[in-house]
Amino acid sequence: MEIPEIILISLCLLIFGVLQVLVILRWRLADILVVHLGVSVSLGFFANLCLLLAWLEVTTNALNYELSIQLSLLAMILTFGGLTLSLLKKTRRTLLIYWGVGLAILLLWSGLAFNFQGWATGIVVATNGVGLNGIEQLMAIVAGSGWVMAITSALVNLTSELKQRHPLQFLNRLRYWLIVTFLLGAAGVTLFADFTGSFRWVGLPLLTAGMALASYNVLSYQTPDLKLLFNWGLHYIGITFVLSSITLIGLVGATQLYRFIAHRTHLLIWLVILAVLMAASYRPLQRLSNMLLMRFIFGRTDRDETQMIRRYNQNIRNTLDVQRLSDVTIKAMVETLDIERGVVFINERNGRGPVWLKPLSTVGLKNFTTKCLTIENPLVGYLRKEKTMLSQYEIDVRPEFKSMAQDEKDWLLALELEMYVPILREQELMGVLAFGPQKNGTAYSKKEKDLMVMLAEQAAVAMDGALLFQQLATINDEVGLLNDRVSVLDKSKSEFLSIASHELKTPLTQIHTYSQLLLDLTEDDLKDETYTKKVFEGIARGSERMRDVIELMLDVSAADMGSMYLFTGPVIMKEVFEQAIRPYLPVLDERRLALSENSLADLPTIEADGTRLVQMLENLINNAIKYTPDGGQITITGRPTTMSDGEPAVEIMISDNGIGIDPQHHEMIFEKFFRVEDSKNHSTSKTKYKGAGPGLGLTLVRAIVETHNGEIWVESVGRDEVNRPGSAFYVVLPLLPKLPERIELPQSKIITQTITYS
Ligand code: ADP
Repeated sequence: MEIPEIILISLCLLIFGVLQVLVILRWRLADILVVHLGVSVSLGFFANLCLLLAWLEVTTNALNYELSIQLSLLAMILTFGGLTLSLLKKTRRTLLIYWGVGLAILLLWSGLAFNFQGWATGIVVATNGVGLNGIEQLMAIVAGSGWVMAITSALVNLTSELKQRHPLQFLNRLRYWLIVTFLLGAAGVTLFADFTGSFRWVGLPLLTAGMALASYNVLSYQTPDLKLLFNWGLHYIGITFVLSSITLIGLVGATQLYRFIAHRTHLLIWLVILAVLMAASYRPLQRLSNMLLMRFIFGRTDRDETQMIRRYNQNIRNTLDVQRLSDVTIKAMVETLDIERGVVFINERNGRGPVWLKPLSTVGLKNFTTKCLTIENPLVGYLRKEKTMLSQYEIDVRPEFKSMAQDEKDWLLALELEMYVPILREQELMGVLAFGPQKNGTAYSKKEKDLMVMLAEQAAVAMDGALLFQQLATINDEVGLLNDRVSVLDKSKSEFLSIASHELKTPLTQIHTYSQLLLDLTEDDLKDETYTKKVFEGIARGSERMRDVIELMLDVSAADMGSMYLFTGPVIMKEVFEQAIRPYLPVLDERRLALSENSLADLPTIEADGTRLVQMLENLINNAIKYTPDGGQITITGRPTTMSDGEPAVEIMISDNGIGIDPQHHEMIFEKFFRVEDSKNHSTSKTKYKGAGPGLGLTLVRAIVETHNGEIWVESVGRDEVNRPGSAFYVVLPLLPKLPERIELPQSKIITQTITYS
């Protein structure tokens, strides 16, 4: 044995050792790929170690070096086959079948080895009297078939995957894997051809190189594109060829000059001319050949990135519109990198809060669906934290992205993008530039990736300004809206003061007048029963109205302070309806209004505060009466439904064919003191047509519905006193409201629950 052999074996052992450390650093039991790699590298290491120990002639009884090397190499190559299948994301079933066959081969080999050792002759595997040499040959056949199975399964699966459509980076990885498989296959051939000779000299380095390349491919997420490397190699050879040709022409020219010009000075002059000509032609020829080779090999000419970035900067300098900015950016992406597909995502919500990525401009995307990625999305988190570009391949394989929701993963995959580059302002993610593959199908080079980052940086600066401007405009709009609201509220408040005082003053005057009459009653008057009854009724009516108004105010203020308590029990809507219409029967008659009810009896019983529901329906019926002219129609319809969260509920619709409500007031009518009517129309009568009230009725109705966890809204095409489109109020109440725990109230308050529904 020679000294170089031990150096070679030690070097291979060292490489295996380093690979093992690298795998351990990334060890994760859950990752089947890393587990396969770890086992494979360890077995390779062990085989190498045995080789070294055998070479050093370290004697031990525990290990038969020859057998250990063969066994570990066989197990290593079988694990490599499994590694390939898991790299190709084959199903668990395929992997199980593969390992079933693999383990059978290993067991058979081990059984034969036991025989060979002479420990259990005839028990483990019946060899029918075959000699030790025969058993050795059998073992070699079994081991050989193991190698053939592993390498063939890897090659067959790889070639079929290579034919399919995959992201460029994945395909690149498969090409690397093809080289790995060839290296290991060649190592296997040397192993069986000549173990002591060619395997040690050629096979072992091939095996080590194969495993090193395999580990690099599994452990690193960014492998240089093989096709690109090859193309650059071609390009380099081409340029070298052109330049060496010029040099050769020069050298040949010089020798010819020597031959034909004898005169020394003349010769020198001609040589100088030749040298100058050569020097002058170097650069243009180099440029020309570079251009031609680029076009020939890469299918495009070398780009002038500086020029492009300058043009991009000019285009975006004064752009304060985010949409235009993103359009210009996508155009620059297409122009500079010749991309097939691309998206500019913009973070719709700035600040430290959640990130809401929205695709603003796209190119080459068909059937594109919008989807917002939230802060919890690992892609957003990664870009924000790492501040570097990320490839789709990394999203597929890196453990950080395992937690990503499947629908988000599918959506990203469907976009068929390759690279994601963050647009950042310090810690803040303002957007993402997403690049699909280039039109010519080559992967992005380092230079092109730098260009992507540069583009994102420029976009960040411009977007910063544009977003600030947009925010300013939004804030401006919001301030305007708030201003309008404040003035509406202000107007409502001052109107309320006058209405409230009017509402209270009128019944008070009424009481005052009648009590004066009471004081002035003469004995004769007292005998006139009709007269005295009229006086007492006047006082009662005034105080009743006053009580109503004050109660309404107290209720609304209680709801405002969150102290509207419900006293719940089973409630039947039909009974609520009957209670609610009772006070209005005379006025319905007087104003010839038809009030009908539909399907209320079919509604299920709900858990609610019956008194409050009567109050709610009374107010809605009252409004329907007030805003529907004489002879109109009011309908109350019920139907079972569900809440937005799927809980069972009932829906009650109170519709009329009255004057209707302008859509711009659909929200505001539920606000305190808001009335569409002019305060001039204000009336002390609760039921007069278009007689405006204090503007608190709907506020109370909404408070009652919301305290029951219900929903309320209005539908009406608009206000039109001539055509009378009518309005419909919808109330949805859950069958079982999730109410906060009841607070014990003073006894007196509880007694106010007067109506009980069964
Ligand atoms: P008000 O005491 O003025 O009736 P509400 O809070 O009950 O106050 O109603 C607020 C406003 O909503 C009313 O001024 C009216 O303009 C409008 N409104 C309510 N119900 C109806 C309806 N059924 N038809 C038309 N307008 C309505």
